[in-house]
Amino acid sequence: MIQGLVTIAYIAAAILFILSLAGLSNQETAKRGNIFGIVGMAIALLATIASANIQALIYILIAMLIGSLIGARVAFKVEMTGMPQLVAALHSFVGLAAVLVGYNSFLKLAGHEGEIVSGALLTIELTEIYLGVLIGAVTFTGSIVAFGKLHGIIKSKALSLPGKHWINLSAIVVSFVLMGFFINAGGSMIFLAVMTAISLLLGLHLVASIGGADMPVVISMLNSYSGWATAAAGFMLSNDLLIVTGALVGSSGAILSYIMCRAMNRSFLSVIAGGFGNKSASAAKDEETGEYREMSPEDVAEQLKQSRSVIIAPGYGMAVAQAQYPVADITRKLRDMGINVRFAIHPVAGRLPGHMNVLLAEAKVPYDIVLEMDEINEEFPETDTVLVIGANDTVNPSAKDDPTSPIAGMPVLEVWKAQTVVVFKRSMNAGYAGVPNPLFYKDNTFMCFGDARATIEKILKAM
Ligand code: NDP
Repeated sequence: MIQGLVTIAYIAAAILFILSLAGLSNQETAKRGNIFGIVGMAIALLATIASANIQALIYILIAMLIGSLIGARVAFKVEMTGMPQLVAALHSFVGLAAVLVGYNSFLKLAGHEGEIVSGALLTIELTEIYLGVLIGAVTFTGSIVAFGKLHGIIKSKALSLPGKHWINLSAIVVSFVLMGFFINAGGSMIFLAVMTAISLLLGLHLVASIGGADMPVVISMLNSYSGWATAAAGFMLSNDLLIVTGALVGSSGAILSYIMCRAMNRSFLSVIAGGFGNKSASAAKDEETGEYREMSPEDVAEQLKQSRSVIIAPGYGMAVAQAQYPVADITRKLRDMGINVRFAIHPVAGRLPGHMNVLLAEAKVPYDIVLEMDEINEEFPETDTVLVIGANDTVNPSAKDDPTSPIAGMPVLEVWKAQTVVVFKRSMNAGYAGVPNPLFYKDNTFMCFGDARATIEKILKAM
């Protein structure tokens, strides 16, 4: 394809990616945003394949066919609860790709394929390669650990090696010192390989040392890293679209990390330094051995009928139980009875940014009754009944009341201020952060045990 046409296609794809991000920022336009993204990616792929630089087209087509088949199978099979770990796994591929592109570029450079580069140009190319491999390696192993933590293969609790901050800091300092040697030597495989090993270990350790309630920041941070790794690959391959796309993903991931940090009232550095949800929960343990009260689904139905206002606070358990459909049905029923029903969404509820919004949109809950934490927190005192459906950490009062709690300082949904709270879960177990929840023992709280979907269906039947 003529270079001019490729450039036009790349610009069109870049614009579509920007429109895609803009669309994804709002539930009502999210679908359109996705379509822009798909079209942009299709244009980008076609233009890249058709561009004159591509040799060995047949290998690329075979690789794409295999990749598409695996991708389609995974996408069709994955449950909504498996999305967070799928995203983490995909981030790891981006990291690995950046490492491989880096090594390929280095070998090409070392073998003097094409023109021989020297002087400032050589320094720039070596820097691109080095940084691309560094970011890629950290993203690769970091994402694998995040996958393990989200999939439950690795404990969500933070790894706490003695002097862990010094380990991270030393790895970063040594990597940058090696970068100086690497560039001074005009490119050396030894320095590159040693740095790769250090970065792979750094990625493992960095994410393993962050745990519990801090995981949302880790996910968005890795999202951002995968963008920078893509941009680095774009520089190495001299591909403008990869640079633009990488920068878009990198900066939107960074903004998301900022939003997540704000949602948890934490600074990014303090998250990276670890600590949130990492302390042993022993401080809070003793208080949580009080008495709790239960309510049957039939009683919950009666309680709802007598309420004038109801707020539903969903959490990860709603996703596990796939309870969004009966929840949407019960919402319709209550609204038909003239009861004011709203949803309270905590920014880190579930296991993925926007997790609850996606589930509720899937079940066709009207957007205007789905409110963010800041919009609804003041409404709880005037609310008759709150239904906490599979949420735990995000409704834990110890975050506000107990300065010794591992989640102290995290803003939470203040559901306990309502007249009556009903909590739907299967046991008295703690949530993701492993912190006991005093909400369950409050005078106005009732536990309704069982799988959330089955329980809500029973309530619907009783109504
Ligand atoms: P939690 O993870 O704190 O709690 C979920 C609760 O759901 C559990 O206590 C569990 O209790 C219950 N549950 C599980 N399955 C079912 C079921 N089938 N039926 C009924 N209940 C069920 O959820 P939250 O949403 O409140 O908090 C999210 C947590 O995840 C936070 O700590 C957050 O930091 C973290 N996180 C969030 C990410 C994000 O991006 N949003 C990413 C990574 C982590 P039981 O076992 O007794 O049923």
